[in-house]
This record gives sequence, structure tokens and C-alpha cells, in this order.
Amino acid sequence: MNRECKKCLLYESAEADMLADIKSRINKLTPQERADDDVYSHRLALCQQCDNLISGVCMKCGCYVEFRAAFIKQKCPDTRDRKW
Ligand code: SF4
Repeated sequence: MNRECKKCLLYESAEADMLADIKSRINKLTPQERADDDVYSHRLALCQQCDNLISGVCMKCGCYVEFRAAFIKQKCPDTRDRKW
């Protein structure tokens, strides 16, 4: 059983299967849909500073942030304090 980890992304936790599934789904995005590497890294760095992140999941939307952040048109779901 994995421990809950605040401020962790999936790649830092032991969620290898889920992370592999997310990477596979990200790789299927078209270039028009996908955030570039710099944007993606910046977004995830902001998530790692956020109190709403628990074990790779955003508590504001229930998404795995490593998936949500890959979509160029997505935004941070915290409407009161949007970080990206
Ligand atoms: S509220 Fe925004 S910055 Fe915080 S974990 Fe969710 S997506 Fe990331």
C-alpha cells in the first residue's frame, strides 16, 4: 500500500503502472493538443508547491496533474488562486 504523499508527483511515488498509462496517453496527443516540454515542466513545478497536490492528484479537480498539465488548453482548476 502506498503512503499518501503531499507535494509528490506520480514519478516520485511508487505508482509506476499509473504513470506508464498516463505517459502512453500523453504520447497519443497531437502536437496541437500538447503543452511543450517547458510549459509542462513549469506547470508541474507549480503543482509541487501547491497544497492541493496529494500523491500526484489535484484535490481541486481529481485529475492526475501529470496528465492534466500535458494539455495546452487546460488550466489549473483553482479558480480562486489559479497557478497556471
Ligand atoms: S490546484 Fe492547480 S497548482 Fe494546485 S495541484 Fe491543482 S492543478 Fe496543480
